[in-house]
Amino acid sequence: MKIKDMYNKNRPVISFEVFPPNTNHSIETIYDTIHDLATFNPDFVSVTYGAGGSTRGKTVEIASLIKNKYNIESLAHLTCVGASKSEIDSIIKEYQSNNIENILSLRGDFPKDMDEKDKHNGDFTYASDLTAYLKKNDFCVAGAYYPETHYENNDLMDLFNLKKKVDAGTDFLISQIFFDNELLYKFKDKTDKIGINVPFSAGIIPVTNAKQIKRITSLCGCSLPPKFQRILEKYADKPEALTEAGIAYAIEQIIDLISWGIDGIHLYTMNKVDTTKKIMDSISHIRDLSK
Ligand code: FAD
Repeated sequence: MKIKDMYNKNRPVISFEVFPPNTNHSIETIYDTIHDLATFNPDFVSVTYGAGGSTRGKTVEIASLIKNKYNIESLAHLTCVGASKSEIDSIIKEYQSNNIENILSLRGDFPKDMDEKDKHNGDFTYASDLTAYLKKNDFCVAGAYYPETHYENNDLMDLFNLKKKVDAGTDFLISQIFFDNELLYKFKDKTDKIGINVPFSAGIIPVTNAKQIKRITSLCGCSLPPKFQRILEKYADKPEALTEAGIAYAIEQIIDLISWGIDGIHLYTMNKVDTTKKIMDSISHIRDLSK
């Protein structure tokens, strides 16, 4: 099934993101996680793609397992930075032969050691180039958006670049993490004004580790509102308390987003079953209500 058709059902689409185990761990280490996450009945599960294709085989295998063993739609991430057309063709074939119909089309981050002149020399410069190519191959295609602006651009340019990405054929959008819902509502006002009218899913991460979240937010440039910073500071050295507070904060964000009328919630699960269960249990009635 094409995931874009799920957004017409008049209720929020709930999805999860998982990542393949790193090179030190075998792929089997994620099988139980997928099995348990599947019991929470997500509408779809997305699988990340390591920088430069480093997890390519595992991404395909996990996306295929989700789709073909658990009958849950999978959204396979794919980045194009530094990739040739023939490399993209070969991974497209792998996805097609595994019955995967949905791809999150991404440019990816430039490798640290990449020469400035090489950054725009590939067969696909921006995610929008990959999106147009994937649409020709009949995929349902998602794209990324940044409620607080992508770190390489100013907000106006980034907004117009998002419009180009949608005009290239993006079927729905998933956000980078954010901790202040008002930022997303303001961003959505702007995208409405310039005629971006595909479904928007909001990416939510339950924080369970203060150091990790500070690293992630400094990498992606997303802000930490005072209310959230107080939690991080108060419970930084108390892991159980931080987990409780982080889950409560994520649930509050999700309930507010759904009440506001967001099209979907994309939960960055960090492959954690317990945390995901607590969140899903807390929204079991809310998720089934009409938007
Ligand atoms: P683009 O949409 O191409 O945008 C990149 C920059 O170029 C932006 O500043 C944009 O404003 C600008 N731009 C876009 N189009 C144009 C144009 N036509 N002309 C001029 N400028 C333009 N990374 C991974 O490596 N693997 C993953 O699995 C992964 N999953 C992700 C999932 C989500 C939901 C999100 C939000 C991000 C994910 N990322 C992942 C990170 C992502 O690859 C980086 O944020 C990357 O820097 C940008 O990718 P993009 O697809 O948004 O790029």
